[in-house]
Amino acid sequence: MIELENIDGVGPKTKELLNKLKINNGEDLLYYYPYRYDVIKRTDMNILNDGDKIVIDGIVEGQPTVIFINKSLKKLIFRINTKTMIINITVYNKVYLHQELKCGKEVTIIGKYHKLKNTIVASDVRFGLLPPGAKIEPIYYTTEGLTIKQISKFVSYVLNNEEYHVHSLIPTYLEDKYNLLPKKDAIYNVHIPEDIVTLKKARQRIKYEELFMYMLKIRYLKQKIESDDTAIERVLDYDKINKFIDNLPYKLTLDQSSSIKEILKDLESKKRMNRLLQGDVGSGKTIVAFIAIYANYLSKYQSALMAPTEILAGQHYEDALKIFSKYKLKIAFLTSSTSAKDKKEIYDNLELGKIDLIIGTQALIQDRVKFKKLGLVVTDEQHRFGVNQRNSFKGKGISPDVLSMSATPIPRSYALTIYGDTDVSSIKTKPIGRKEVITYFKKEKDITEVLEMMKRELDNNHQIYVVAPMIEGDEENLESVKDLEEKMNKAFGKISKIGIIHGKLDNKEKNKVMNDFENNKINILISTTVIEVGVNVPNASMIVIFNANMFGLSTLHQLRGRVGRSDIQSYCVLVAKESEERLRLLEKTSDGFEISEYDFQNRGEGDLFGIKQSGELVLKMANIRRDFKMLLKAKEDAEEFINILFTFAFIFFVFPLSVVTLNTYVPLLLTVYTFSVALVSVFIVASSGASIPVIVPSVILAV
Ligand code: ADP
Ligand code: MG
Repeated sequence: MIELENIDGVGPKTKELLNKLKINNGEDLLYYYPYRYDVIKRTDMNILNDGDKIVIDGIVEGQPTVIFINKSLKKLIFRINTKTMIINITVYNKVYLHQELKCGKEVTIIGKYHKLKNTIVASDVRFGLLPPGAKIEPIYYTTEGLTIKQISKFVSYVLNNEEYHVHSLIPTYLEDKYNLLPKKDAIYNVHIPEDIVTLKKARQRIKYEELFMYMLKIRYLKQKIESDDTAIERVLDYDKINKFIDNLPYKLTLDQSSSIKEILKDLESKKRMNRLLQGDVGSGKTIVAFIAIYANYLSKYQSALMAPTEILAGQHYEDALKIFSKYKLKIAFLTSSTSAKDKKEIYDNLELGKIDLIIGTQALIQDRVKFKKLGLVVTDEQHRFGVNQRNSFKGKGISPDVLSMSATPIPRSYALTIYGDTDVSSIKTKPIGRKEVITYFKKEKDITEVLEMMKRELDNNHQIYVVAPMIEGDEENLESVKDLEEKMNKAFGKISKIGIIHGKLDNKEKNKVMNDFENNKINILISTTVIEVGVNVPNASMIVIFNANMFGLSTLHQLRGRVGRSDIQSYCVLVAKESEERLRLLEKTSDGFEISEYDFQNRGEGDLFGIKQSGELVLKMANIRRDFKMLLKAKEDAEEFINILFTFAFIFFVFPLSVVTLNTYVPLLLTVYTFSVALVSVFIVASSGASIPVIVPSVILAV
């Protein structure tokens, strides 16, 4: 291992900066990949127009001169000979170059070419000529005080040091199958690319390795869940559960019922539940969770319901109080803004088993929180929590069942691949009686039409959400919350009672505004996307989203789900400068699955469905969405690999012995199975932390 301080040019200060980028040793540098590349190529002078960007190399002719323009502005001018012509170069402010720009020096100039004056205003002057082909320069994310060049230099130092090792995590037979670049070459080329073709191959190799490991880990997690012997097996009281369902103010939809059936079956079984309940906004997931919580309570276990925001958690708390008002469940609410005194009381009561259901935010997974008998964890909008967080409820000797709810519909096949460790229940239909939200696209210049529609809703005593992409500021072309407040005030005067909510308000202020909106003391709620998830105000019948083009379709669909939560006809108005096909899609369909499929196919970048990557499943270069085809391959290969391991174990251990007697055969098979699982686990552990000797996986890889 190469320590940072042993790298040329790294002092204590630089070390600190590198640490800030989570680079703690030479190896980390190797895995600190560039996020993009600049291709530097000599510009063809024949096709160059005035004002074009130019990259050219040549030899300095004569002596450079420094010219003082005013106190703070100086420029350096000189000439270079490019073999075919002589060009004037102007550089502003970097007059220190003067020292080194001697006559005869070879330089590369990057800048803007002014044809008439035959001058380049240089943004960059480098020493040395360009290589014959293109030069590919890696660009790294960096932090203030540390340049990309420095990072490049440090990486090169490690790459050129004999002491560095990299270990392939892909079995050799797969390396051969896909003709993958050896890992060492791949790492080298990612940082110091020979040419574009090799760079591409290098990136393929690294991505494939990441995805292969990703799929192995998902298999492993699944295995771990299935073989968890601290999982809970319950006897359910169906009489009481059914009575509870019959007493609800509405009839459950078919999908709700079948989801509940699946969940209850999980609760009964000895296998630890890890289920994703996905259903479009407004499809009624919450009640499904409450029924599971009730069943869990009847079997004398505690439940925790965790939501990503305080607003959402608060809403669930209110709902729970209502739904369970006639039952004996003891419910508590815990967030970071709970007072210290209340917190302590809640902690104590949880540990004593005096609370049956705790609802809250991330505050629920702090170390201080201990349960007496936690049986069920429900997380809402689960994609906002990492796998680690979901698992951090484990403790006290039993593993609670986990139900994750998500309103970001994921195409089913993708969900099964990505959440390989998870079962999925889907609610596809909405409660009956719901009118579909009517969606309109309006151009910004037709704002008066939008205001008229809004007025109609206000006159009917309905409420409206208004969404802006930012809080305040004078960014051109973007509406801010503050701008819109002014606009609405002007348009509606006395009939409007405007409230404002955004991420910068503290929780108390947010709660007050939300309360006022729920109680119709506010009839126009202007906000940034903090209302995106979960908020439920049935009297709100319209949502107007400004600069709609700034948002992804899934986000817009989520936002639209804030309305249409009762039998009032509701509307969603998307406002943008220009019409876009993708925005028009929302006018046509309200099927979340169709929308997410479209998003999946058409949006390149961006985090996948907002899944936060956790320590366990990190992809540095590969991207599940962009490299989905490769992911499917990796999944197949990972499964095949595990099968090979089993066969290997079978041939060497079981087969010779199985001849003995059938009686010894069955337990042996089990031993072998455990052995293979252990091997795979070691392999996975070893690959995620460098500390465990890599000998074992190497043995496996040799198979
Ligand atoms: P989401 O799936 O977006 O979390 P909610 O659980 O918040 O949806 O449900 C939205 C609204 O629909 C709530 O007001 C809830 O009481 C109501 N609801 C849920 N199920 C039904 C049903 N089967 N019939 C009528 N209304 C329902
Ligand atoms: Mg919800």
